[in-house]
Amino acid sequence: MTSPENPETFETPETLDVLRRVFGYDAFRDGQREIIEHVVGGGDALVLMPTGGGKSLCYQIPALVRKGTGVVVSPLIALMQDQVDALRTLGVQAGFLNSTQDLDERRVVEAQFVAGELDLLYLAPERLRLPATVDLLDRANVSLFAIDEAHCVSQWGHDFRPDYLMLSGLHERWPNVPRIALTATATEATRAEIASRLQLDDARHFVASFDRPNIQYRIEPKTDAKRQLLRLLQTEHKGDAGIVYCLSRNSVEKHAAFLTENGIEALPYHAGLDAQTRAANQSRFLREDGLVIVATIAFGMGIDKPDVRFVAHLDLPKSVEGYYQETGRAGRDGLPSTAWLAYGLQDVVNLRKMIDGGEGDPAFRRRQAAHLDSMLALCETVECRRVQLLNYFGQSAGPCGNCDTCLTPPESWDATVPAQKVLSVIVRLDRERRQKFGAGHIIDILLGKKSAKVIQFDHDSLKPFGVGTELRESEWRGVVRQLLAQGLIAVESNHGTLLQTDASSDVLRGERKVMMRREPERPATKAAKERKAPVELPAEAMPLFERLRAWRAATAKDQGVPAYVIFHDATLREIATAVPTTLTELGRINGVGENKLAKYGTQVLETLSTPD
Ligand code: ADP
Ligand code: ZN
Repeated sequence: MTSPENPETFETPETLDVLRRVFGYDAFRDGQREIIEHVVGGGDALVLMPTGGGKSLCYQIPALVRKGTGVVVSPLIALMQDQVDALRTLGVQAGFLNSTQDLDERRVVEAQFVAGELDLLYLAPERLRLPATVDLLDRANVSLFAIDEAHCVSQWGHDFRPDYLMLSGLHERWPNVPRIALTATATEATRAEIASRLQLDDARHFVASFDRPNIQYRIEPKTDAKRQLLRLLQTEHKGDAGIVYCLSRNSVEKHAAFLTENGIEALPYHAGLDAQTRAANQSRFLREDGLVIVATIAFGMGIDKPDVRFVAHLDLPKSVEGYYQETGRAGRDGLPSTAWLAYGLQDVVNLRKMIDGGEGDPAFRRRQAAHLDSMLALCETVECRRVQLLNYFGQSAGPCGNCDTCLTPPESWDATVPAQKVLSVIVRLDRERRQKFGAGHIIDILLGKKSAKVIQFDHDSLKPFGVGTELRESEWRGVVRQLLAQGLIAVESNHGTLLQTDASSDVLRGERKVMMRREPERPATKAAKERKAPVELPAEAMPLFERLRAWRAATAKDQGVPAYVIFHDATLREIATAVPTTLTELGRINGVGENKLAKYGTQVLETLSTPD
């Protein structure tokens, strides 16, 4: 075997051959070849790649090339069956062991494993706690350990799993088996923690570009979230599969029902549903074409459905890391997709309140506040969203041309005077601190509205009453939201009353200028019009594509697997455009490997040649 110190000498045609023969892909993506050859050569690796970047091949190909079975530790028990089915369709011998199986099923897989009949074995992390599992691993020939979703070992991350701490023992027990840890969550701090907890001292770090150029990033102010969402789905994503994220279970149910009433089939998913309903909804989302799932963040880790065309957020995510991971679930197939977020004043108030009044020590709360500040900075930026996102992960880039701020540049404007007006109301209300005076009340005062509350507290006699008629109510809400985002207003954690901060006195004294983002008119529609669709299917290929999709749906149903396990949309598009007439021609299409050609080739050719 070649030494891990010098993986470059291990350049084999073998890895490329496996990529083409088994997976049917022409070429490696950025970074894959180096990682694969390093692991094939016996080296340890820590791989950081964005969601959809192509991490699975990085351990699957070495497992196929090296002698023995690749053991994949993954927390995604509910998805193991699908992963194994997908591999089997490719002709790869794969199995899994987790708590969903009964003893007999497990025995069969264990026997195959020990007999050396498996290329890959997926293992739930909690199984490593059992001495029997350690025994089992000792009896078989393990070619590598892949630790998927490796950020689960990080206690600061949002997905910590205590069982992942067991993984530090792998190295001591099997020092000669290479380990590859993979994650899409990748700040410097998380990465260091993963390396130290998994004892990956000698591992080479592979950090791929975090850019996902096919995803169009858009963030717009929330006016009427439901209607905004509906407009997005009806005008740009008719018939597409997508994920809608909401913060609360209640909001999930409400929005799923709303979409369904409006003719868009949507399924709810949250931790309050029983396990069976959750599994059924997830499985339908994966298997059927064009379903929308409305979910809390409990949904999505490990979902490798390639044709998710949009990810919509109806509430502000708590961190850029979480947001990027969630939006990354769109467009794994590389086709144009949308990441859309609507956020408003109330989101900022709620999250600030939650952090200040929440549990945890002050250091924990400070970290949460810092996460939120980065998220807010992303929302309020007048620069390219992608530049800002990539900077967050320590990568640099130029303006992308495929985000809302690039497509419809917002202006920034000097909002010092309106900011002073808001603050002067807040200063005066501060004397009545025991009351809840939220943004709405402050804006009423500025606009000179004699609301019941204004009259009750005699606030029409305040000096700033009616001084703000130059802006509309929605514009004032934007001003208050941006003041909160910039830390020039704070939220009192019990009542949600808005308060001054240390920095606000500089503004009031005229010593600090306040710049704000002015929202372009109707940002979504404009951006949508200008949106290029580089891989749109030519009109004449459309009927063929639809016919292929119908064939795929029927075949997938027959075999009880998700449609994309048969072929991806991207592959069907290529077939519909190229219209191959022989198996050899079909085999040249990206995504058609040997096994799939043998299994489905004739049916595909027949489907193509059968007139409607
Ligand atoms: P990750 O685990 O990093 O989120 P996956 O491993 O699921 O991503 O890969 C994302 C998608 O890209 C999958 O559908 C996979 O089949 C596809 N893919 C991966 N590598 C290649 C490649 N070299 N060429 C074409 N498609 C690829
Ligand atoms: Zn951009």
